[in-house]
Amino acid sequence: MNRRTLLKGGLLPIAGLAGLPSLSAAVEQATTPYNRPKLKITDVRTAEVRVHGYQVHVRVYTDQGIVGQGESTDAATGNVPIIRSFARMLMGQDPLNIEAAFERIRTSGVFAGAQGGQYVTALTAVEIALWDLAGKALGLPVYQLLGGKVRERVRVYADSGAREMIPGNEGSKARIKQIQDMGFTAAKIDIDDAADPARKDRVNWTASNGEINHMVAKVAFTRELYPKDFDLAVDMHARYDATTGKRVAKELEPFKLMWLEEPVPAENIDAMRDVRASTSTPICCGENVYMRWGFRELLEKRAVDIIMPDFQKCGGLLEARKIADMAHTYYVPVAPHAVTSPIGMMASAHVCAAIPNFLVQEWHWIDSPELWRNWVKEGEIIQKGYIPLPERSGLGVEMNDDTARKAQVPGTPWFGPTRRG
Ligand code: MG
Repeated sequence: MNRRTLLKGGLLPIAGLAGLPSLSAAVEQATTPYNRPKLKITDVRTAEVRVHGYQVHVRVYTDQGIVGQGESTDAATGNVPIIRSFARMLMGQDPLNIEAAFERIRTSGVFAGAQGGQYVTALTAVEIALWDLAGKALGLPVYQLLGGKVRERVRVYADSGAREMIPGNEGSKARIKQIQDMGFTAAKIDIDDAADPARKDRVNWTASNGEINHMVAKVAFTRELYPKDFDLAVDMHARYDATTGKRVAKELEPFKLMWLEEPVPAENIDAMRDVRASTSTPICCGENVYMRWGFRELLEKRAVDIIMPDFQKCGGLLEARKIADMAHTYYVPVAPHAVTSPIGMMASAHVCAAIPNFLVQEWHWIDSPELWRNWVKEGEIIQKGYIPLPERSGLGVEMNDDTARKAQVPGTPWFGPTRRG
Protein backbone atom coordinates (compact mmCIF):
# COMPACT_ATOMS: atom_id res chain seq x y z
CA MET A 1 0.00 0.00 0.00
CA ASN A 2 1.46 3.36 -1.00
CA ARG A 3 0.36 6.79 0.09
CA ARG A 4 -2.21 7.01 -2.67
CA THR A 5 -3.87 3.70 -1.92
CA LEU A 6 -3.66 4.52 1.75
CA LEU A 7 -5.62 7.67 1.09
CA LYS A 8 -8.03 5.85 -1.19
CA GLY A 9 -8.65 2.87 1.03
CA GLY A 10 -8.21 4.28 4.48
CA LEU A 11 -8.57 8.03 4.61
CA LEU A 12 -10.70 9.24 1.73
CA PRO A 13 -13.90 7.77 3.14
CA ILE A 14 -13.18 9.66 6.37
CA ALA A 15 -12.37 12.80 4.41
CA GLY A 16 -15.60 12.40 2.45
CA LEU A 17 -17.57 12.32 5.64
CA ALA A 18 -15.73 15.10 7.35
CA GLY A 19 -15.10 17.37 4.35
CA LEU A 20 -11.81 18.20 2.61
CA PRO A 21 -10.31 20.51 5.27
CA SER A 22 -10.22 17.52 7.57
CA LEU A 23 -8.16 15.52 5.07
CA SER A 24 -4.80 17.00 5.99
CA ALA A 25 -5.54 16.47 9.66
CA ALA A 26 -6.48 12.87 8.93
CA VAL A 27 -3.29 12.30 6.93
CA GLU A 28 -1.26 13.81 9.72
CA GLN A 29 -2.88 11.55 12.25
CA ALA A 30 -2.38 8.41 10.19
CA THR A 31 1.21 8.94 9.07
CA THR A 32 4.57 9.95 10.45
CA PRO A 33 6.38 13.07 9.14
CA TYR A 34 7.99 10.73 6.58
CA ASN A 35 4.61 9.51 5.31
CA ARG A 36 4.97 6.12 6.95
CA PRO A 37 1.54 4.94 8.03
CA LYS A 38 0.94 4.71 11.75
CA LEU A 39 -0.84 1.42 12.09
CA LYS A 40 -2.58 -0.38 14.91
CA ILE A 41 -3.36 -4.07 14.96
CA THR A 42 -7.10 -4.62 15.19
CA ASP A 43 -7.51 -8.38 14.80
CA VAL A 44 -5.71 -11.67 14.24
CA ARG A 45 -7.62 -14.42 12.45
CA THR A 46 -6.87 -17.96 11.32
CA ALA A 47 -7.87 -20.54 8.74
CA GLU A 48 -7.05 -24.24 8.89
CA VAL A 49 -6.20 -26.39 5.86
CA ARG A 50 -4.93 -29.88 5.20
CA VAL A 51 -2.55 -30.35 2.26
CA HIS A 52 0.85 -31.50 3.48
CA GLY A 53 -0.69 -32.44 6.79
CA TYR A 54 -2.45 -29.83 8.89
CA GLN A 55 -1.44 -26.21 8.24
CA VAL A 56 -2.61 -22.88 9.68
CA HIS A 57 -2.89 -19.57 7.84
CA VAL A 58 -2.94 -16.32 9.80
CA ARG A 59 -4.09 -12.82 8.91
CA VAL A 60 -3.20 -9.78 10.98
CA TYR A 61 -5.58 -6.84 10.43
CA THR A 62 -4.95 -3.14 11.01
CA ASP A 63 -6.97 0.02 11.48
CA GLN A 64 -5.99 1.25 8.00
CA GLY A 65 -7.13 -1.76 6.03
CA ILE A 66 -3.68 -3.30 5.44
CA VAL A 67 -3.67 -7.03 6.15
CA GLY A 68 -0.61 -9.26 6.61
CA GLN A 69 -0.65 -13.01 6.05
CA GLY A 70 1.46 -15.81 7.48
CA GLU A 71 1.53 -19.59 7.57
CA SER A 72 2.62 -22.24 10.05
CA THR A 73 3.22 -25.85 9.29
CA ASP A 74 4.17 -29.29 10.62
CA ALA A 75 3.95 -28.30 14.29
CA ALA A 76 0.77 -26.34 13.54
CA THR A 77 -1.49 -28.66 15.55
CA GLY A 78 -3.01 -26.58 18.34
CA ASN A 79 -1.84 -23.31 16.77
CA VAL A 80 -5.31 -21.74 16.55
CA PRO A 81 -5.95 -21.43 20.31
CA ILE A 82 -2.30 -20.47 20.84
CA ILE A 83 -2.56 -17.69 18.25
CA ARG A 84 -5.81 -16.59 19.89
CA SER A 85 -3.90 -16.28 23.15
CA PHE A 86 -1.32 -14.06 21.39
CA ALA A 87 -4.04 -11.70 20.15
CA ARG A 88 -4.27 -9.81 23.44
CA MET A 89 -0.53 -9.01 23.17
CA LEU A 90 -0.96 -7.72 19.62
CA MET A 91 -4.18 -5.69 19.67
CA GLY A 92 -3.58 -1.96 19.50
CA GLN A 93 0.17 -2.43 18.89
CA ASP A 94 2.17 -0.97 16.00
CA PRO A 95 2.73 -3.99 13.70
CA LEU A 96 5.94 -2.48 12.34
CA ASN A 97 7.76 -3.16 15.61
CA ILE A 98 8.18 -6.82 14.77
CA GLU A 99 11.07 -7.61 17.11
CA ALA A 100 9.12 -6.11 20.02
CA ALA A 101 6.03 -8.21 19.23
CA PHE A 102 8.17 -11.33 18.87
CA GLU A 103 9.97 -10.77 22.18
CA ARG A 104 6.77 -9.90 24.02
CA ILE A 105 5.09 -13.12 22.92
CA ARG A 106 8.20 -15.30 23.30
CA THR A 107 9.15 -14.14 26.76
CA SER A 108 5.57 -14.23 28.01
CA GLY A 109 5.50 -17.93 27.13
CA VAL A 110 8.63 -19.04 28.97
CA PHE A 111 6.50 -21.28 31.18
CA ALA A 112 4.12 -22.21 28.38
CA GLY A 113 6.44 -23.95 25.91
CA ALA A 114 8.01 -20.92 24.21
CA GLN A 115 11.27 -22.84 23.74
CA GLY A 116 9.99 -24.71 20.67
CA GLY A 117 7.18 -26.86 19.25
CA GLN A 118 3.66 -25.57 18.68
CA TYR A 119 4.17 -22.35 20.64
CA VAL A 120 7.07 -21.15 18.49
CA THR A 121 5.37 -22.44 15.33
CA ALA A 122 2.28 -20.35 16.13
CA LEU A 123 4.51 -17.35 16.84
CA THR A 124 6.23 -17.96 13.50
CA ALA A 125 2.97 -17.65 11.55
CA VAL A 126 2.19 -14.34 13.26
CA GLU A 127 5.73 -13.04 12.73
CA ILE A 128 5.55 -13.79 9.01
CA ALA A 129 2.21 -11.96 8.78
CA LEU A 130 3.82 -8.92 10.46
CA TRP A 131 6.59 -8.89 7.82
CA ASP A 132 4.04 -9.07 5.03
CA LEU A 133 2.21 -6.20 6.69
CA ALA A 134 5.36 -4.13 7.18
CA GLY A 135 6.34 -4.60 3.55
CA LYS A 136 2.90 -3.53 2.36
CA ALA A 137 2.85 -0.53 4.69
CA LEU A 138 6.28 0.65 3.55
CA GLY A 139 5.90 -0.32 -0.11
CA LEU A 140 8.86 -2.72 -0.13
CA PRO A 141 9.38 -6.44 -0.69
CA VAL A 142 10.20 -8.22 2.58
CA TYR A 143 13.73 -9.15 1.43
CA GLN A 144 14.44 -5.44 1.22
CA LEU A 145 13.62 -5.11 4.91
CA LEU A 146 15.82 -8.12 5.78
CA GLY A 147 18.95 -6.49 4.42
CA GLY A 148 18.23 -6.55 0.70
CA LYS A 149 18.76 -9.28 -1.85
CA VAL A 150 22.12 -10.90 -2.57
CA ARG A 151 20.62 -12.96 -5.44
CA GLU A 152 17.87 -12.45 -8.00
CA ARG A 153 16.26 -15.89 -7.69
CA VAL A 154 16.11 -18.66 -5.15
CA ARG A 155 17.08 -22.19 -6.13
CA VAL A 156 14.51 -24.82 -5.20
CA TYR A 157 14.77 -28.61 -5.02
CA ALA A 158 11.85 -30.97 -5.49
CA ASP A 159 10.98 -33.46 -2.82
CA SER A 160 9.86 -36.62 -4.61
CA GLY A 161 6.62 -36.58 -2.61
CA ALA A 162 4.60 -39.69 -1.91
CA ARG A 163 6.24 -41.53 -4.81
CA GLU A 164 8.74 -43.97 -3.34
CA MET A 165 11.91 -44.67 -5.31
CA ILE A 166 11.64 -48.41 -5.99
CA PRO A 167 14.39 -49.75 -8.27
CA GLY A 168 12.98 -50.48 -11.73
CA ASN A 169 9.52 -49.16 -10.88
CA GLU A 170 7.84 -47.27 -13.74
CA GLY A 171 6.07 -44.82 -11.41
CA SER A 172 9.39 -43.95 -9.78
CA LYS A 173 11.01 -43.42 -13.18
CA ALA A 174 8.09 -41.17 -14.22
CA ARG A 175 8.52 -39.05 -11.08
CA ILE A 176 12.24 -38.60 -11.77
CA LYS A 177 11.45 -37.56 -15.34
CA GLN A 178 8.70 -35.20 -14.16
CA ILE A 179 11.09 -33.43 -11.76
CA GLN A 180 13.65 -32.96 -14.55
CA ASP A 181 11.00 -31.82 -17.04
CA MET A 182 9.92 -29.16 -14.54
CA GLY A 183 13.45 -27.78 -14.70
CA PHE A 184 14.68 -28.68 -11.22
CA THR A 185 18.41 -29.21 -10.74
CA ALA A 186 18.11 -30.97 -7.37
CA ALA A 187 15.75 -33.42 -5.67
CA LYS A 188 15.27 -35.37 -2.46
CA ILE A 189 14.20 -38.95 -1.85
CA ASP A 190 13.25 -40.88 1.29
CA ILE A 191 14.99 -44.15 2.15
CA ASP A 192 13.52 -44.93 5.58
CA ASP A 193 10.81 -47.57 5.34
CA ALA A 194 8.81 -48.69 8.38
CA ALA A 195 7.17 -51.40 6.28
CA ASP A 196 10.38 -52.89 4.84
CA PRO A 197 9.93 -56.69 5.00
CA ALA A 198 13.60 -56.91 6.00
CA ARG A 199 12.83 -55.16 9.32
CA LYS A 200 13.37 -57.62 12.13
CA ASP A 201 11.59 -55.64 14.84
CA ARG A 202 8.57 -53.33 14.66
CA VAL A 203 9.86 -50.98 17.36
CA ASN A 204 13.65 -50.95 17.31
CA TRP A 205 15.22 -48.88 14.51
CA THR A 206 18.52 -50.72 14.05
CA ALA A 207 18.48 -51.42 10.30
CA SER A 208 19.21 -54.99 9.24
CA ASN A 209 21.59 -55.78 6.37
CA GLY A 210 18.51 -56.30 4.21
CA GLU A 211 17.16 -52.84 5.02
CA ILE A 212 20.51 -51.17 4.39
CA ASN A 213 20.78 -52.99 1.06
CA HIS A 214 17.34 -51.68 0.10
CA MET A 215 18.30 -48.13 1.08
CA VAL A 216 21.47 -48.25 -1.01
CA ALA A 217 19.57 -49.76 -3.96
CA LYS A 218 17.05 -46.88 -3.89
CA VAL A 219 19.82 -44.30 -3.97
CA ALA A 220 21.74 -46.17 -6.71
CA PHE A 221 18.61 -46.43 -8.87
CA THR A 222 17.76 -42.74 -8.47
CA ARG A 223 21.34 -41.51 -8.88
CA GLU A 224 21.64 -43.46 -12.13
CA LEU A 225 18.54 -41.87 -13.68
CA TYR A 226 19.41 -38.27 -12.86
CA PRO A 227 22.24 -36.57 -14.78
CA LYS A 228 25.66 -36.66 -13.12
CA ASP A 229 25.56 -32.97 -12.19
CA PHE A 230 22.06 -33.16 -10.71
CA ASP A 231 22.11 -32.78 -6.90
CA LEU A 232 20.49 -35.48 -4.79
CA ALA A 233 19.56 -35.35 -1.10
CA VAL A 234 18.46 -38.38 0.89
CA ASP A 235 16.23 -38.31 3.99
CA MET A 236 16.18 -40.89 6.83
CA HIS A 237 13.59 -38.94 8.86
CA ALA A 238 15.31 -39.05 12.24
CA ARG A 239 14.30 -42.64 12.89
CA TYR A 240 17.41 -44.77 13.15
CA ASP A 241 20.00 -45.43 15.84
CA ALA A 242 23.59 -44.21 15.73
CA THR A 243 25.00 -47.52 14.44
CA THR A 244 22.63 -47.52 11.50
CA GLY A 245 23.21 -43.84 10.82
CA LYS A 246 26.96 -44.38 10.54
CA ARG A 247 26.63 -47.51 8.39
CA VAL A 248 24.25 -45.87 5.92
CA ALA A 249 26.29 -42.65 5.69
CA LYS A 250 29.38 -44.75 4.87
CA GLU A 251 27.61 -46.89 2.27
CA LEU A 252 26.27 -43.79 0.52
CA GLU A 253 29.65 -42.08 0.18
CA PRO A 254 30.20 -43.10 -3.48
CA PHE A 255 26.98 -41.34 -4.55
CA LYS A 256 28.24 -37.81 -3.80
CA LEU A 257 25.00 -36.77 -2.12
CA MET A 258 24.11 -33.14 -1.61
CA TRP A 259 23.34 -34.35 1.91
CA LEU A 260 22.08 -37.18 4.08
CA GLU A 261 19.24 -35.84 6.22
CA GLU A 262 18.76 -36.75 9.87
CA PRO A 263 20.39 -40.19 9.91
CA VAL A 264 19.70 -40.06 13.67
CA PRO A 265 17.18 -37.94 15.63
CA ALA A 266 18.30 -34.32 16.04
CA GLU A 267 17.85 -34.04 19.78
CA ASN A 268 21.09 -35.84 20.70
CA ILE A 269 23.63 -33.53 19.15
CA ASP A 270 26.61 -35.67 20.21
CA ALA A 271 25.17 -38.63 18.31
CA MET A 272 24.69 -36.45 15.21
CA ARG A 273 28.28 -35.23 15.56
CA ASP A 274 29.54 -38.84 15.80
CA VAL A 275 27.78 -39.73 12.56
CA ARG A 276 29.16 -36.64 10.86
CA ALA A 277 32.70 -37.38 12.08
CA SER A 278 32.47 -40.94 10.72
CA THR A 279 31.75 -40.11 7.08
CA SER A 280 32.48 -37.91 4.09
CA THR A 281 28.74 -37.81 3.25
CA PRO A 282 27.48 -34.31 4.19
CA ILE A 283 25.03 -34.47 7.11
CA CYS A 284 22.04 -32.12 7.32
CA CYS A 285 19.48 -31.60 10.07
CA GLY A 286 17.32 -28.93 11.69
CA GLU A 287 13.71 -29.17 10.48
CA ASN A 288 12.64 -29.88 14.07
CA VAL A 289 15.02 -27.44 15.74
CA TYR A 290 13.76 -24.05 16.93
CA MET A 291 15.21 -20.56 17.19
CA ARG A 292 18.85 -19.53 17.70
CA TRP A 293 19.10 -21.43 20.94
CA GLY A 294 18.23 -24.70 19.22
CA PHE A 295 20.87 -24.26 16.53
CA ARG A 296 23.63 -22.95 18.81
CA GLU A 297 24.87 -26.31 20.06
CA LEU A 298 24.50 -28.02 16.66
CA LEU A 299 26.86 -25.42 15.25
CA GLU A 300 29.21 -25.15 18.21
CA LYS A 301 29.75 -28.91 18.29
CA ARG A 302 30.16 -29.04 14.51
CA ALA A 303 27.50 -31.74 14.41
CA VAL A 304 26.25 -30.94 10.89
CA ASP A 305 27.53 -29.85 7.49
CA ILE A 306 24.29 -28.10 6.51
CA ILE A 307 21.39 -26.79 8.60
CA MET A 308 17.78 -26.93 7.43
CA PRO A 309 15.59 -24.75 9.67
CA ASP A 310 11.94 -24.72 8.67
CA PHE A 311 11.08 -21.03 8.29
CA GLN A 312 7.39 -21.76 9.03
CA LYS A 313 8.34 -23.25 12.39
CA CYS A 314 11.68 -21.97 13.63
CA GLY A 315 10.56 -18.56 14.95
CA GLY A 316 9.89 -16.49 11.82
CA LEU A 317 11.74 -14.66 9.09
CA LEU A 318 13.97 -12.44 11.22
CA GLU A 319 14.75 -15.41 13.48
CA ALA A 320 15.62 -17.40 10.34
CA ARG A 321 17.98 -14.64 9.29
CA LYS A 322 19.61 -14.69 12.74
CA ILE A 323 20.02 -18.49 12.63
CA ALA A 324 21.50 -18.24 9.14
CA ASP A 325 23.92 -15.52 10.20
CA MET A 326 25.02 -17.61 13.18
CA ALA A 327 25.62 -20.57 10.82
CA HIS A 328 27.57 -18.29 8.50
CA THR A 329 30.17 -17.71 11.21
CA TYR A 330 30.79 -21.49 11.15
CA TYR A 331 30.83 -21.55 7.32
CA VAL A 332 27.71 -23.72 7.41
CA PRO A 333 25.18 -23.30 4.56
CA VAL A 334 21.40 -23.14 5.03
CA ALA A 335 18.94 -25.29 3.06
CA PRO A 336 15.50 -24.47 4.49
CA HIS A 337 13.02 -27.28 5.01
CA ALA A 338 9.63 -26.34 3.52
CA VAL A 339 6.34 -28.18 3.08
CA THR A 340 4.15 -25.10 2.76
CA SER A 341 1.79 -23.40 0.34
CA PRO A 342 3.16 -20.76 -2.06
CA ILE A 343 2.65 -18.19 0.73
CA GLY A 344 5.08 -19.93 3.08
CA MET A 345 7.41 -20.79 0.20
CA MET A 346 7.58 -17.15 -0.83
CA ALA A 347 8.08 -16.07 2.78
CA SER A 348 11.07 -18.44 2.95
CA ALA A 349 12.35 -17.16 -0.39
CA HIS A 350 12.58 -13.60 0.98
CA VAL A 351 15.02 -14.80 3.65
CA CYS A 352 16.92 -17.00 1.18
CA ALA A 353 17.30 -13.92 -1.03
CA ALA A 354 18.95 -11.98 1.77
CA ILE A 355 21.39 -14.48 3.33
CA PRO A 356 24.81 -15.09 1.77
CA ASN A 357 25.02 -18.74 2.94
CA PHE A 358 21.80 -19.94 1.30
CA LEU A 359 22.16 -23.31 -0.47
CA VAL A 360 18.77 -24.50 -1.77
CA GLN A 361 15.13 -24.43 -0.60
CA GLU A 362 12.74 -27.38 -0.47
CA TRP A 363 9.46 -27.71 -2.42
CA HIS A 364 7.08 -30.43 -1.28
CA TRP A 365 3.74 -30.02 -3.10
CA ILE A 366 4.44 -32.18 -6.16
CA ASP A 367 1.46 -34.38 -5.24
CA SER A 368 -0.96 -31.41 -5.11
CA PRO A 369 -0.31 -29.64 -8.43
CA GLU A 370 -3.73 -27.98 -8.80
CA LEU A 371 -3.73 -26.54 -5.31
CA TRP A 372 -0.12 -25.46 -5.72
CA ARG A 373 -0.62 -23.60 -8.99
CA ASN A 374 -3.80 -21.82 -7.91
CA TRP A 375 -3.20 -21.20 -4.18
CA VAL A 376 -2.13 -17.60 -4.81
CA LYS A 377 -3.47 -15.09 -7.31
CA GLU A 378 -0.02 -14.78 -8.88
CA GLY A 379 -0.14 -18.42 -10.07
CA GLU A 380 2.97 -20.59 -10.37
CA ILE A 381 5.83 -19.06 -8.37
CA ILE A 382 8.55 -21.59 -9.32
CA GLN A 383 10.05 -21.12 -12.77
CA LYS A 384 12.36 -23.91 -13.93
CA GLY A 385 13.54 -24.81 -10.46
CA TYR A 386 13.90 -21.25 -9.17
CA ILE A 387 11.66 -18.71 -7.43
CA PRO A 388 12.21 -15.32 -9.12
CA LEU A 389 12.02 -12.65 -6.44
CA PRO A 390 8.92 -10.47 -6.61
CA GLU A 391 9.06 -6.68 -6.85
CA ARG A 392 5.67 -6.33 -5.16
CA SER A 393 5.53 -5.11 -1.58
CA GLY A 394 5.24 -7.49 1.36
CA LEU A 395 5.58 -11.18 0.53
CA GLY A 396 4.38 -10.42 -3.00
CA VAL A 397 1.73 -13.14 -3.14
CA GLU A 398 -1.94 -13.05 -2.11
CA MET A 399 -4.06 -16.07 -1.28
CA ASN A 400 -6.70 -17.13 -3.74
CA ASP A 401 -9.32 -18.00 -1.14
CA ASP A 402 -11.55 -19.95 -3.54
CA THR A 403 -8.73 -22.43 -4.18
CA ALA A 404 -7.37 -22.56 -0.64
CA ARG A 405 -10.84 -23.28 0.76
CA LYS A 406 -10.83 -26.55 -1.16
CA ALA A 407 -8.33 -27.71 1.46
CA GLN A 408 -10.18 -26.17 4.43
CA VAL A 409 -10.46 -28.43 7.47
CA PRO A 410 -14.20 -29.25 7.65
CA GLY A 411 -16.09 -27.47 10.40
CA THR A 412 -13.41 -24.81 11.02
CA PRO A 413 -13.94 -21.06 10.49
CA TRP A 414 -12.31 -19.32 7.53
CA PHE A 415 -10.59 -16.25 9.01
CA GLY A 416 -13.58 -15.87 11.33
CA PRO A 417 -13.61 -13.19 14.06
CA THR A 418 -11.24 -14.01 16.87
CA ARG A 419 -12.60 -15.26 20.16
CA ARG A 420 -10.11 -13.78 22.59
CA GLY A 421 -8.20 -16.38 24.57
MG1 MG B 1 13.32 -34.38 6.60
